[in-house]
Amino acid sequence: MNVILLEHPRSYSNDRCNDIANAPLSACLNSGYIGGMLAANNIDVTIVDGYLEQLNYSDIEEQIAALTPTILGIHLVYHWEDNKTFYQFIEHVKQTYDIAYVCVYGFYPTFAYEEILNRCPAIDGALLGEAELTFLKLAENFPTIPSAGIAVRTTNGIVATRGEVIIDVDSLPFPQRNPSSYSFGEVNISGSRGCYGGCTFCYINPYYGDSKRLWRGRSPENIIAEIDAVMQETDIRYFYFTDPNFYGPGRAGKERVLKLARLLKERHLHFGIEARANDIEAETIKALTGAGLKHILIGLESGRDEALKRLNKLTTVADNEKALQILRQYGLEPSVGFIMFEPDSTLEDLKVNFDFLKRNALLDKLEISVNVLYHHMIILQGSSSYKALQEQGRLNISVHSTYEADTDYRSPQVAMLAGMMRDMTNHIFSYMKDTWELSFKKDPIMLEKYRLLNQLLVQSFEDFLCLMKNGELSIDQRNSYVDSFHHTVDGIMV
Ligand code: SF4
Repeated sequence: MNVILLEHPRSYSNDRCNDIANAPLSACLNSGYIGGMLAANNIDVTIVDGYLEQLNYSDIEEQIAALTPTILGIHLVYHWEDNKTFYQFIEHVKQTYDIAYVCVYGFYPTFAYEEILNRCPAIDGALLGEAELTFLKLAENFPTIPSAGIAVRTTNGIVATRGEVIIDVDSLPFPQRNPSSYSFGEVNISGSRGCYGGCTFCYINPYYGDSKRLWRGRSPENIIAEIDAVMQETDIRYFYFTDPNFYGPGRAGKERVLKLARLLKERHLHFGIEARANDIEAETIKALTGAGLKHILIGLESGRDEALKRLNKLTTVADNEKALQILRQYGLEPSVGFIMFEPDSTLEDLKVNFDFLKRNALLDKLEISVNVLYHHMIILQGSSSYKALQEQGRLNISVHSTYEADTDYRSPQVAMLAGMMRDMTNHIFSYMKDTWELSFKKDPIMLEKYRLLNQLLVQSFEDFLCLMKNGELSIDQRNSYVDSFHHTVDGIMV
């Protein structure tokens, strides 16, 4: 028995250049964790990282030909399209190299297994949610297929049964890492699974599948043991916690963070985390920055309490502002998650959001403005918003996949402004793709260009918001404003 775990090549789409990733960051360790579990149980496993190693299909085929696996496991990531080319590749290698079983895992297969199994006959099963135990059972008992944790074709159609949830996350073997895991100058590490929140647009908890223990943290000692092991293998001293929510709930969550901070401090490294605004308070942030915290992403999502309620964010605008103030007090300028356009947004919501961003100095840099003034709510299968909009008959499922959907905005003016901002920011992104490095290196000419672009973008948003208050623009007017914006951007960037 030997197993290949494949991270397939990802494609880039100009149109979707800044949509939030179609798989959460935590998914980047999926193959590593399955690999770790199989290796710890003496199963011969190789991770082929077609993504980080930038392999093309023939490079991958070469590795498959050399290893001729019994089972090919694939971390299947949605590509904003139908994956046809990749499915043809799977069919080809399965037949050519006589692979006995092909299975897929990850967020996309967990929620869209039906579509995937229907589209690609070469895929035998889709593992659901956290897949370490199911994959182990599959490999140990093959050709017997586990009765839970996997979606399979049967004579009664496709049947999917969720598997066991891993309550004690310390029991997981450390993820397997390849040289390519260290190729981008930082090490991804997972300190917890799930989240005690329940935002309508998020499918972290439906993925992990435990409705009782939503957030499951590893002990600080267990995390540090992995960090120590990684530090033996690489000189990299920057760790990024991929946890959707670094903090556990309540007092116990805070104590755990303080203990972890103490242990991290002794390692003299730097790290980044992602957190909820309501968890940000002085004691833990002081301890974490003292221990090497350099980057933090917080999901603010909105500057209006009514919208935060609609998103079931369980935070308030006051929480958001306090979090920003504390982080800045300790020298951290956070990256922020912000949903300017959500299905039920009103023009008033957008105005309040805009004022919030301005008041909190979140419109001063192009790199931030271009995100926060544009982001719309992405609706993915598995989230509660997908289900609710479907029940309300408001869900427009993508022609590419059931995994992705959008909805018609309640307000036609909001819809028009959202479309304009998308066109305008995509135009800016097309320039930033090749110039951000110069800006990052503080090239004075590029910094000035970015300053002018930022001024233009922020002013345009405010102007269009005012215009919309008088009603929708005609299509000709809309297009003429966007064209004029593009020309001004082109003039600045020449
Ligand atoms: S805070 Fe909300 S968006 Fe973030 S992981 Fe938790 S449920 Fe998901």
